[in-house]
Formats: sequence, C-alpha cells, structure tokens
Amino acid sequence: MDGTTYLADYTPYPFNIDKVSLRFRLAPHATRVQAHIAMTPLSPGAALRLDGEQLRLISAAIDGVALTPSDYLITPSGMTVHPAALPEAPFTLETEVEIAPEGNTALEGLYMSNGMYCTQCEAEGFRKITYYPDRPDVMAPFRVRIEGDLPVLLSNGNPVASGPGWAEWDDPWPKPTYLFALVAGDLVAHSGSFTTASGREVALNIYVRPGDEDHCAFALGALQRSMKWDEEAYGREYDLDIFNIVAVDDFNMGAMENKGLNIFNSKLVLASPETATDTDYERIEAVIAHEYFHNWTGNRITCRDWFQLCLKEGLTVFRDQSFTADMRLGPVKRIEDVIALRARQFREDQGPLAHPPRPDHYREINNFYTATVYEKGAEVVGMLRTLVGDEGYRKALDLYFERHDGQACTIEDWIKVFEDSSGRDLGQFKRWYTDAGTPRLRVTDDYADDTYTLTFEQQTPPTPGQPHKTPRHMPIAVGLLSPNGNEVVPTTVLEMTEARQSFTFTGLSTRPVPSILRNFSAPAVLERATSAAEQAFLLAHDTDPFNRWEAARSLARQTLMDMTKGAPPAAEYLDAIGRLLADDTADPAFRALILRLPGEDEIAQALHASGTTPDPEAIHTARGALMTTLAQRHEVALSATYESMAVPGAYTPDAAPAGCRSLRLAALALLSQIDGARRAEALFASADNMTESLGALSNLITAGKAEGALAQFRSRWKDVRLVMDKWFLVQASLCPPQTAAERVTTLATDPAFEWKNPNRFRSLLGGFSANHAGFHRADGAGYRFYADWLIRLDPLNPQTAARMSTAFETWPRYDKTRQALVRTELERIAATDGLSRDLSEMTARLLG
Ligand SMILES: [Zn+2]
Repeated sequence: MDGTTYLADYTPYPFNIDKVSLRFRLAPHATRVQAHIAMTPLSPGAALRLDGEQLRLISAAIDGVALTPSDYLITPSGMTVHPAALPEAPFTLETEVEIAPEGNTALEGLYMSNGMYCTQCEAEGFRKITYYPDRPDVMAPFRVRIEGDLPVLLSNGNPVASGPGWAEWDDPWPKPTYLFALVAGDLVAHSGSFTTASGREVALNIYVRPGDEDHCAFALGALQRSMKWDEEAYGREYDLDIFNIVAVDDFNMGAMENKGLNIFNSKLVLASPETATDTDYERIEAVIAHEYFHNWTGNRITCRDWFQLCLKEGLTVFRDQSFTADMRLGPVKRIEDVIALRARQFREDQGPLAHPPRPDHYREINNFYTATVYEKGAEVVGMLRTLVGDEGYRKALDLYFERHDGQACTIEDWIKVFEDSSGRDLGQFKRWYTDAGTPRLRVTDDYADDTYTLTFEQQTPPTPGQPHKTPRHMPIAVGLLSPNGNEVVPTTVLEMTEARQSFTFTGLSTRPVPSILRNFSAPAVLERATSAAEQAFLLAHDTDPFNRWEAARSLARQTLMDMTKGAPPAAEYLDAIGRLLADDTADPAFRALILRLPGEDEIAQALHASGTTPDPEAIHTARGALMTTLAQRHEVALSATYESMAVPGAYTPDAAPAGCRSLRLAALALLSQIDGARRAEALFASADNMTESLGALSNLITAGKAEGALAQFRSRWKDVRLVMDKWFLVQASLCPPQTAAERVTTLATDPAFEWKNPNRFRSLLGGFSANHAGFHRADGAGYRFYADWLIRLDPLNPQTAARMSTAFETWPRYDKTRQALVRTELERIAATDGLSRDLSEMTARLLG
C-alpha cells in the first residue's frame, strides 16, 4: 500500500542530537519558532533528513552561515540538506519557521483552545512545529524560551528564568520530540507538593481555566498517591523539581505524558460531587496515575519506533490497573478490566481491524492507538508476571530499568530482561506480541481411578494477513472443587505450549468441578460445554472472585442468547440472582457487577462467535424482557437492596460508598422496568450527586419518561461543559432504538452541539454507536447519520474521525442487508474528495 511504513525497514538515525534550543514567539496566526540543533554526524556522507509539515521556512543556517536554496530540498513532508552542505564534524543547524496555531483544527502540533496555546506531539505532531527528526529513537535535552503576552508560560523540565512576557525552561533528561510540550494561557494553578523517598521536594501544580480551580483537589490527591505507589511498588522516584498538569477542553486523547508537563483532557482532571460520577472519579485517578507512571515506562525508557508502542502502553496500562486494584477493590477492578477488554479488544480481534499488539506495518500510526496495543498489551504483561511470579516480575523490572534507562527500546529488549532474570526461554511467548487474534481454548475433562484429566486445545482464528497461527505459550490458572463445594486443588498455573495438551490431577476420590482461567489468566475465549447447574454451583462456591462473576456472566449471556431464539429465561439464572441478592457477605460493588446484564454488543459478539447471525432488535427485546422478569421475580429483594444501599451523609468518591451506589443503581435499573420509573423520578428529584442524578436520568430515558427531567438537567448545567457532554451521551446511547436516528439528528442541530470539540462530538456520535439496536437499525438510517458526520469532521480533525470510524468494525457479524448498507456508507466515505490519510487507511481496512 502506498506510503506504508514497515518494521523491517528500521534504520538508526545517522546523526546524534546533542542539544536542542527552541525559541517561540507566540502569535495566533504567525508564531515564529527558532531552533538551534547541535548535532554530530555518525555516518559520513549521509544527507540530513528532517521531518516538517505545514511549516513556512524563514531561514536556515549551519554554524552561522546561511544555507542557499541549492543546499536543501523542501517537500510537503520535510526538508533534506544535501551531504555536500554538511560539515563532517559536530555542527549546529539553525532554522526559523512560521506556523499558525489558530488555524490548527487537527489538534496536533501547536494549536489553540479557548485562547490558550497548547501542544499534542505524540505520535508525529512535532513536525508541525519545526524541522526536526521527529522519531522516538532520537533523544536530546531541550531548552525552551517562550515569548508571549500571557500570564502562564510552561514547557518541559525545570523553570530556569522568567520575566514579564517570557519564560525559559530546561529539561535535562534526553527525550524524543513526542514528549515535547508547551502551554501558554490565562490559567490558575491548584498547587501542592510531594517529598520523594530520597528527600527531593517536588512542586505540584494543576493548571486550569479561572473558575475551575476548586475542582482539582481530587486530581492532586491522585497524583500524590501515584507518586508514592510507584516508589513502593516499583522503586521509581520522580526526577525533576516540578510536575505540572494542564487541563485542556479541546483534546483528541485522554491525556499525554509529556516530560514534567502532562496535558489532560479536562474531563480527566475536573471533578466535584455535583458534576462528576463515581466512574469519572475512578477514571481520573487511573489516568493521572497512568500518565505519571509513564515518566519511567515511556519517558526514561522509550520506544525505538512506533511499532513498539505497546512496550510503553501495555506496561503502563498494566501498572495503572495494579495501582487502581490497590487503591480500590482488586477483584472488582479485575472484572471491570475484563469487561472492557472483551467489549473493545475481543471485538477488534473479531473484525477487519484485528492486528497484533506489535504490528509490523502501518500507514498512519495514529490509527494504532487501539485496545489491542493498550489493553491486550497489558494482558500480555500480566501473563509474564503470572509465568515468572511476583518476585520474578520485580526482578525483571529492576533489570529493565537498570539496563535500559535513557534508551529507546524494543519488545525484544523487554522479553530479554525476563529471560535473563528468570533463566526461561520466552521465544514462544513472544507470539502474543506478534500474532493477532483471540485464541479459543476448548476444554474437555475425564475422571477415572482417582485421577482427573483436563485436556485443552487452543486455536486462533485467521486475522487479516495472518491466516495460520502456531500455538501460544499460555498460563492457565486452574482450581478444583469437590461436589460439596470445598476446594480440593487450590489455584495452580498450568503452562500450555502445544496445540493440544492434557494435565492430570491425582488422588481425587470424587470427580471434581473445575474452575478454569482463574482471574482471567490469559486473554482467551474458553469453550467448554457446561450445564447451567454447574455455572450456578461455581457462582455459589468458587473461591476465585473472578470466576464466580464469570459463572454468573456466562449464565446471563447464555440465557440472553437463548431468549433471542424464543426460549424462556433459564431458571438456574433467575434463582442464582435471588441467592446473590440475599448474600450480604458479598461486596456491594461485586454484587452490582453480577446484577448488571451483559450489554447488547456483548450478546451480539457471543452469538456471532457461536455461528448465529445476531439480530439487534431481538437482542434489545430479549435484554429488556430478562430485566423485567428479574424485577418481577425478585421485586421484594431488589426493593430492599435499593433502600439499604442508600449512602447516608455527605458524598465521597471512595470505593465503599461508590460500591453501594453502584448496587443501588443496578437494582433501580431492574425496578424501573416494573414500577413506572417511580423510584427513578424520586431519585432524580432528590439526588445531591451526579452519580445518582445521572443514574436516575438514564432510567427515565429508558422508560420514555425523561422529557421534563432532560429539560431541567439542561437548564441547570447548560454552562458546565463536561456535564452537558453527559446530557448528549445519555440521550444518544439510551433513547429507544426505533427512533434513535431521528433523536440524534435533532440533537445534532442543538446549539449546544459544538461538534468541533472532540468531547462533544464523541458524546453524541460515540453515544449513538453504543445504542446497539439504534445504530444498527434495519433501514440503515443510523449508518447514514454516522457516516455523514465522519465525512464532515474529517477535514478538520482527521485523527478523531478515523478513531470513531471503528464503530463500523463489527459489520461482518450482521445479516447481508446490513452488511450491504454499511459497505455503501464505507464506500461513500472512501470516495470523498480530499479524504485524510487517517480515515482513508481506516475505510480501506474496514472494507477489507
Ligand atoms: Zn499511555
């Protein structure tokens, strides 16, 4: 494919960058950037190739002598200085360019958001700032001078000097350009401090727009907790005198780990009980931690090239998941992570966008910031830890930091530290990084003469470009229970390396009940013929909390799949929910997870995997019917749960009260099916926090009784951007599917639909694509609406348009009529004049 980059083509950069000095003279339409780049040639005779896009070159010189136009070549993608114009000894390249941040709607490079300058350079945004080798393996110390008529002027590293209208920053740690950041604006700081284990005093600041400063306390506390945790769990200390976070309203991603100057989407910083839900709080804490943890896993040790993105992302997601598990309830966090993994990554693996955690080619790297690179990348790190044990893992990580600090590394380097520290051969394990697809694990068992045998067969379905796969090295955690519910074999990790492999357990006087893939020890789909009675037994007796939940989930999923084909709800499932409601010993957050039914997309995924074409309307109907049946059957217990889980006193976002609210709202969702949404109306009127207010509103929307509440919610929150995002999101995702396309079409004409803001765009469009039966409506109106908006957004913000096109990735699951309707829309997008590289790569891959 034209313009494709291949992993196999990697070559080191032929110059070393010794030091970079940048001077910015800020102006919305004509910012001047002067660069002094001290470099040493490493390969005599090599041309000097610099990336640069949308730059107006003002001047260029080497060691103070101006270059003439015959010394270099400028193209739309960069600048090449001819070897003849280059000294053989170290030299300094001086350039000056002009850029226009005000007109930068792609939000990559230097751009403006509400009068504030900010940057986003990962992956390849720095080339829109100045001419430079914009690749992660070129690392250098940066000094930055900012001149601009704004009160706050920030960059990476430590502040070294400032005066009215200017400031200078120095970052002593060599870094690649994707970690460069600059912020200038009328901002206020919420400040604090942290003392590291070795006694370094670090100033902490969270910069926000005036008026938002009293919504930062939770984020600051999360940062302090993260800094302490990384010292305790990984022995990693912070390494500068200052750590700044800036909240920005217009941001394509969640947040960015620029060295010493993290830039965050404001929705992942700002929180108050009235405006943020429990889920928002948990997410803020996790993302603050994630970006902070990157200081070691990403910044100090970075990626050699973008194919290695999961080296920093998989590891850092694994670290933030462990952090949240320690701050909150470990088993609940694990279940939530697996729900998200299946919803996003398994779905990706099942469709035309499937790719390995480490891909080997791309056209636009922005399109590979995916669930596979992040969430599956984290699962692979978790399997490594399972294989070498907790102590072995810490030993390997210590070696990783010791051996590779200051380097740009590869997945091979990463695996090598585990091999060297454990003495194990992980050659086969590496396939988890290089092969796409979710393995399917078929299990059969046998019992004779006090011996129990488990036989596993693994097989990974074909994925684009990888028709055949060889077996993977898979850790399978197993426990065995006796028929009376006692555990007779505690958790044991079996290591599967063959396509088909048996494991035996001896000395068992009765046939045991197996609990397989405990704590979800490998990201695989378990295929085992089990009865509903056995699932109910595991839900009641398994000592592994994950597999207890998994048993309930499998029961619910199977019941819903059967109901789409006309079967009645399984009695075992209905009874099991009754026992769970009566079980006060189980944690409320855990009970809430069991009470919530699988989403419609998960049911569609399961039907497709079992060889049935999913019918979105039938799934929606079945799910509603099961909720009604559960509510009728357990009305008394649900009502008691709803009452008893009310949290008295002032709101706090801590795990315990959040778990009670979660269970309370799960009960409310069922009760609203049969009480005319009476309780939801009362809760909406009385709620003093966003969690319950939004939970009540959601039920009113599902019940079709929300018009008054929506108007009231809107008039109360019309000036609070992050809450108005929720107003769009809940309507788009939960309104009745039959008329959802009309509903979102109307919402898109609402004056508050500021579609150029990525958060607002994602609220409406992302919310709508989550309305499974609405998006997949048989007449194709949903697909048409969605495609129209991707086409409209693409010229302004190709990155967000391309990412949101993944809503179409499930099209091969559905019937021929829907497939044809999606194909028509994808072909219409592909045929659009001037389509971005981002979106054209995505439509080509989606069309296969
Ligand atoms: Zn990250």
